[in-house]
Order: sequence, then structure tokens, then C-alpha cells
Amino acid sequence: MTNSTVDSEKTVTQPQAPESEGATSDTFRSLRELVDFVSGKSLINLTQEDSGLAESLPFPFLAIVGQREMKLALLLGLVNPNIGGILLIGPRGTAKTTAVRSLLDLLPQVERSNCHYGCLPEEVEFGGISAICPDCAKKYAAGESLTSPDRVRLIELPLNSQLEDVIGGINERTSVPHDRMRVRRGVLARADRNLLYIDEVNMLADNIVDAILDASAQGRYTVRRGPISATYRARFLLIGSMNPEEGRLRPQILDRFGLRVIVKGLKLQNERLDAYRRVKSYQTNPRQMIAQFANEIHAASKEIQAARQRLHTVTIPDVVAMPAIKLVQKMGIESLRAEITWFETARAYAAADGRTKVNTKDLKVVAPMSLRLRRSSFITDYINKQQDEESELNSLLISLGKKKSKKKQSNTRK
Ligand SMILES: [Zn+2]
Repeated sequence: MTNSTVDSEKTVTQPQAPESEGATSDTFRSLRELVDFVSGKSLINLTQEDSGLAESLPFPFLAIVGQREMKLALLLGLVNPNIGGILLIGPRGTAKTTAVRSLLDLLPQVERSNCHYGCLPEEVEFGGISAICPDCAKKYAAGESLTSPDRVRLIELPLNSQLEDVIGGINERTSVPHDRMRVRRGVLARADRNLLYIDEVNMLADNIVDAILDASAQGRYTVRRGPISATYRARFLLIGSMNPEEGRLRPQILDRFGLRVIVKGLKLQNERLDAYRRVKSYQTNPRQMIAQFANEIHAASKEIQAARQRLHTVTIPDVVAMPAIKLVQKMGIESLRAEITWFETARAYAAADGRTKVNTKDLKVVAPMSLRLRRSSFITDYINKQQDEESELNSLLISLGKKKSKKKQSNTRK
């Protein structure tokens, strides 16, 4: 039954966000300033808390020391899920997983299905009334809402996942005649409007990664088994992490992640000391430690929600976009995804900064995470070979024409 698959995926509860006092979002001009401010905040000494109490409380995102690019990429992903996924590349112990889990206290709200089978009004628009379960069809006809507001959740894909767990399959035990009710929803369907996190994505089987990337790119996918089929929405922000020391990712897969962040260990000694102190405070008394960031967390989550709403009004003028496209071409990047991601990320950045027009500075800030690791030597070699073959073919075609015309000429002479 569905219960067994729900258990196989980890959803983490998030701490109660206390009402803010003192510092509010008004204190900071933008999300960006807030993140920078919190990075240098010092903590008061904490008293020991009964350990085990706060196991489910994630380390506060804003309390992570340094790692500016990683934090920025993740925040921009929350603002604009259309950036097409974020890949965090780095060795173990660089706070990659901590950062992703800590996003929980910043996540905005979305409309979510009330139904066990995940029926959504969008499904009716796409596939007619038979696309949803009979109960929801009745509600829909009566003008009742099929959804209610809920927080974005973090869905973690277990490492040992099989394709069937990911896309779903047929529920053999049920005898209900409706297709929708006979299909067991996979992790992808439950990731709709959530974050999907895959730790060590490079260790996952290629066919599973492909299925996830396809669904993520299309925002929906269909489960088909013989005559039975059901379509699900799969609009999620994909976050993957990988340790390059433990296996590579195929270049084609690498290109399909919107942003690539190289996460390194902290270089500065004072940062490392700060990081140590914060981890120590968190271990000593997670609740009190988190409470010290409550105002900033509250302000940041309000800012993210506002930036999300502003995003659809943010545009990129031609005078800003054209030189950027030229730069992509100069770098020898073939993939159109390069500028799509670059522009979408810059739009999120402008929105987070309270503006509705992207400028060159925005593009510069987000360029490394959008453009790095885009040049594929495989593709370059492939294209060069293709061009060699093409020019060979062309010269052969020319001589083919010449021979013919010579023959013709000799024929006419005769
Ligand atoms: Zn339903």
C-alpha cells in the first residue's frame, strides 16, 4: 500500500517559527543583505539542553558560516524553481546536506492536494474529469477546492531507491476500477511543489537519474502499465549533491542541472572557528541556538515569499541579454541551457534584491554557478568530428559534381 512507500521517504519536520521581535524584514534592504549580516553574527553562551529533544530540528540555514555561493544558489532556487536544479559538488564534511536540510525553516507555502491519490485541479484541465479520482471529481463538480495551503517540504530520495519507488507502479491489491486509484504514487509525484534532494546523485543508477531529470524538466510524468495509466505533476526543485572523489557524473547529466556549485572547505581560520562555535552551540542547546536566529529566519522567509511573488514581473532587457549570449558563445558552450539557467537565476537574484529589471551586475554574480562545467569535451570532440566528416562529404560532393560535368563535357565533345 501507499503507506510503505511514504515510510521509505524521509520528510523532516521543521521547528515552529517564533513570532519576530526586534529585527524584522524592514531592517534589511534585501535577502542578500540579510544573509551577509547573519554570516557574521556572534552567539551568546548557551546552557546544556537535554540531548535528543531537538533531533528533528535542523541547523539554521542562516547560521551556516561562509559557503556564500552555496547559500545563494539554494535561496535563488527557492525564489525561482525554474532554474532547473542545483548540483552541489564537493567533498564530505562541507555542510552540503546540512545546508539543504536547513532550508526547511525558510520554505514558502504552496497549494497542495487534499487527496490520498494526489488529485489536482490542473489534472482536470489537462486530462479531463476522468483524470482525477471519483471523490475529487464530485468535489470539483461541486466547486469545492481540491487543495489547501501547505509548506513546501523536503523529500529525500533514499540511496537504495529502485525505479519503481521513484516513478510509482501498479497497486496490485486494490480492485478499484479507476486508474488513478490503481497506481501507486512514486517519490516524484510526492515531490510535486516540494524540494527533492538526492545525496550522492552520482551513485544512483543512470535510468533513475534520467527519469528524475525528465520529470523535473517537463513538470509532469505518466505512469503506464499495460492499459492502466495516470499522469502526475512533478514540479519540484531538484537538489543533488556529489562527492567527485566517489565516481563521476555523465557530462549529459551534469549539463541538465541548472546550477553547479563547487563547495569547498572553509579557508579562513576565523571562519572555521566561527563554524566550530556554532556547531558546538547547536549541539549544546539546539532550541536556544535556533532561537537566536529566529528573527532573521522569519525575515528571510518573508523575503523569499515576496521575491517569489515579484519574480513574474522581473524582465531582462535586450541590451543586457545580448552581450551575455555573446559571452556564452565565446566560451564555446553549445547548450542552450546555459543562458536559460543564467537568465532565470539572474531574474531570481534581481527579485531577491527588490527589483524588476535584471542588470549586468546580477548576471555577473550568478555567472559562475550557471556557466561552469558546461563545456563538454565530449560534445566539442563530437562536433569537430562531425565538421571533419561534413567537410569531407562536401569535398566529395564537389568532385562528384565535377566528374559528372567532365563526363558531360566529354560526352558533348564526342
Ligand atoms: Zn482524488
